[in-house]
Amino acid sequence: MQYISTRGAAPELDFEQAMLTGLARDGGLYVPASVPQMDHAEIAALAGKSYEEIAFQVMRPFVGDAFDATQFRRLIERAYAGFGHPARAPLRQLGPNHFLLELFHGPTLAFKDFAMQLIGQLFQAALSRSGQRVTIVGATSGDTGSAAIEAFKGLANVDVFILFPHGRVSEVQRRQMTTPDEPNVHAIAVDGDFDTCQALLKDMFNDFAFRERVGLAGVNSINWARVLAQVVYYFSAAVSLGAPHRAVSFTVPTGNFGDIFAGYIARQMGLPIERLVIATNQNDILHRCLETGEYRTESVQPSISPSMDIQVSSNFERALFDAYGRDGRAVALLMEELKQDGRFTVSQGALETLRATFASGRVDEDATRAAIARYQRETGEILCPHSAVGAAVAETFQGATPMVTLATAHPAKFPDAVEAATGIRPSLPPRMSDLFERAERVTRMANDRQALQALILERTGA
Ligand SMILES: *Cc1c(COP(=O)(O)O)cnc(C)c1O
Repeated sequence: MQYISTRGAAPELDFEQAMLTGLARDGGLYVPASVPQMDHAEIAALAGKSYEEIAFQVMRPFVGDAFDATQFRRLIERAYAGFGHPARAPLRQLGPNHFLLELFHGPTLAFKDFAMQLIGQLFQAALSRSGQRVTIVGATSGDTGSAAIEAFKGLANVDVFILFPHGRVSEVQRRQMTTPDEPNVHAIAVDGDFDTCQALLKDMFNDFAFRERVGLAGVNSINWARVLAQVVYYFSAAVSLGAPHRAVSFTVPTGNFGDIFAGYIARQMGLPIERLVIATNQNDILHRCLETGEYRTESVQPSISPSMDIQVSSNFERALFDAYGRDGRAVALLMEELKQDGRFTVSQGALETLRATFASGRVDEDATRAAIARYQRETGEILCPHSAVGAAVAETFQGATPMVTLATAHPAKFPDAVEAATGIRPSLPPRMSDLFERAERVTRMANDRQALQALILERTGA
């Protein structure tokens, strides 16, 4: 399986190279040259299988011969062994035809663990084979960073640097990043917002000399391997609800468009997904874009669902690439326009293509709080603010097709917002109840790429 860049001007890579590289050299994102198909019988055969077995079946054709079957199975087993639920991604019922897919039973209590735990295993296997050393740098609005640190801490051949916006992540999120004491973990609090962190990261990737020198690798959702790992739970959930014999819809609380893009890939593979609904908070660039065709960045408005406080939604580029008939030059021009003017207009044809797959909705802060309170009252389910945004948007798309809302984080990651809405303070699972007693270790930095690169060189000795 070969991977190509959404901007059409970077070398094709195999799975392992695409995983270790992250961002393509032309600034684009890697996507499979063609999407493997699963037919009706193959999807039907997934019914009743374990999460790990479904993961193997779904991901195998994308991985090619990067890992042999026995090894790939073993890495998948290891990745999910530390999850706090035997189903890994259990479904609960919220209403007559509305289901909640709980993706927060991993070690850091957000869906990011599904991909990060797996790529931690895949990186380790690939690097120990080649003896190569890499420096992972990630930008986070909170959950990616903790999941990456948890997955890569203590691994040989890897240093992990995580940039997070100072003062804009929850205390649980911050502590999950600052309390691991492994020397290869470096938590960096940047003065700015998530988009500042993401821009710093992209600029570092575009400094090719630096990139080579430190062996820069990216684990943001621009990394194809992360998207791939997330395709699996769309299959496990849909099959539990009767796919391929009946269609299912999904509503996905969305920021960087990685999670919902995984649903899009599942649909491309042949999973009968009727609708993929983008749910946004007040930072609604994706919702506005689908409504009007204009993709225009505004300043980030901090919300109670901070992991979605994003204005530049990186993975949307992957959807645009397909909507423009896989024309990398057209995508490169749009991205150039975005960089220059902070906006671009999607062509009418591409917009229609996007609307054929995606619907969207937006929920403001009051409606998010109201949804948390209402679900608690009516179903006993305590939703995190991101999941509540999803559930509230999902309601407006309710029909005869089962609707699955992705619960992207555990409510205890956002205890203040949940308590304000319900009067109940959700508690952390026992395995992490000492989080507030552990010592923190963090470096505060200005939005200054030179200073950051100097720090990385010093810490890695590269
Ligand atoms: C990362 C995250 C999101 C957004 O996911 P994307 O893949 O960036 O769209 C939503 N909710 C939570 C809790 C997250 O951690």
